[in-house]
Amino acid sequence: MSHDPNCIFCKIAAGTIPSRKVYEDDELIVFHDIAPWAPVHLLIVPKAHIVSHAELTDEHAALAGRMMVLAPKLMREMGVTGGFRTVINTGRDGGQEVMHLHMHVMGGPRPWARG
Ligand code: 5GP
Ligand code: ZN
Repeated sequence: MSHDPNCIFCKIAAGTIPSRKVYEDDELIVFHDIAPWAPVHLLIVPKAHIVSHAELTDEHAALAGRMMVLAPKLMREMGVTGGFRTVINTGRDGGQEVMHLHMHVMGGPRPWARG
């Protein structure tokens, strides 16, 4: 599994930067966004350093599917019942700030801070 020593999400996955973690397995880590847009704002992050959604290929299909399937499960566990928004920002024009693939999952009663 590849890691980038300068990448903030690699450091969170390795535990060298703290986070409010809600889920972890061999391939994925999930934690609360530090600047939430919604009452519940999670980031689903592969532990491998994959730069963005643009880098995904057929070999990542199972991993990407697991990210997708995990989102509703965690929202249920967090008590989110009114729906949620999933967002993946990709590259400069996609507004991506952290260059390590992540899926935002936002839910909870509106109004939200953003989004
Ligand atoms: P992007 O624009 O790349 O899709 O979103 C990056 C997200 O990561 C932002 O919502 C930002 O608040 C969040 N973020 C950046 N640094 C940290 C951090 O150190 N810890 C946590 N928990 N979230 C972070
Ligand atoms: Zn990384």
